[in-house]
Amino acid sequence: MRCTFCKNNSSSSKSVEHIIPQSLGNTEHVLPPGVVCDGCNKYLFQNVEKPFLDSLFMRYRRFLMKVPSKKKRIPPIDAWHAQSRIKVNLFHNLDDKGISVGPAEGEDESKWIHSIMKDSSGTLYVPSGNLPDNNIVTRFIGKIGIEALASRVLNLEDWKTEIIDKPELDELRDHVRLGFPATPWPINYRRIYPTKHVFDDRSEAYQVLHEYDILVIEANEYLIIVAIFGDEYTLNLGGRCINGYERWLKENDGKSPL
Ligand SMILES: [Zn+2]
Repeated sequence: MRCTFCKNNSSSSKSVEHIIPQSLGNTEHVLPPGVVCDGCNKYLFQNVEKPFLDSLFMRYRRFLMKVPSKKKRIPPIDAWHAQSRIKVNLFHNLDDKGISVGPAEGEDESKWIHSIMKDSSGTLYVPSGNLPDNNIVTRFIGKIGIEALASRVLNLEDWKTEIIDKPELDELRDHVRLGFPATPWPINYRRIYPTKHVFDDRSEAYQVLHEYDILVIEANEYLIIVAIFGDEYTLNLGGRCINGYERWLKENDGKSPL
C-alpha cells in the first residue's frame, strides 16, 4: 500500500485519517490506515488542519456552535471587556448552562474585579475574525478534496492509478504537503446559510456542521465543495483556476451544489 500524499510505502501505518477533522464533529468520513501514511497524517494535522482550526475565524465559529475538540472541550475565545479595558476569556460551562468570563492570562485581575464590583452591567467585544490567509484555507480545503476523491475510488481495483499516480493531482498535492510555491490557489468563498441555521426536515430539526461533495463541471474541472458552519469553500482540484465554478454558479442562479 502507498500513501496518497507522499506516495511512499504505507503498509505498516496504523492511524485512520479523518477527511474532515474530528474536532469539527466528524466521526463518519474516515479513510482506513495507510491511505494516508502515519507520517503524513501527523504532518497534515500540525501544518494544515491546526492553522485553520486555531484561527480566530474558526475558533469563534466553533465556540458559537459548541463543537468540542478531540479532547472533549470547547476551546475558549478571547474578548475585550470595555469597562475594565482588559482582555478576557469566554468559556462554555461544563454543565452546558451558560458562559463564564474571566481575565485572560497576563491581565491584571484586580482591574477586572474592581470593574465588575463597580458596574452591574458591562460590554464585551467579541472579535469574530476574518477568513485566514489564502494559503491556510486552500491547503486545508485541498487536503479534504484529495481525501474525498480517494474515499470515492477506494473500492475500485485501480484506485491507485486514479489518485496516487495521477499527475494532474500533483500540483495540489504539493500545495497541500509543502505549501510551496506560495502562489495563491484561487478559491470561491461565500456564506450559504447563517452559522446557527437550523434545518427542519419535518421529523426533527438539525444543524448542519459540515458537508462536502465533488462536482465535475463541463469544463472538465474537478471541484471540491465544502461547507462548514454555513461557509462554502470551493476549490478546483485540477489547477489554479476557479472561473468554471463562477460560470456554473451564474448558470444555476447561485444555488449551492450541496
Ligand atoms: Zn505519506
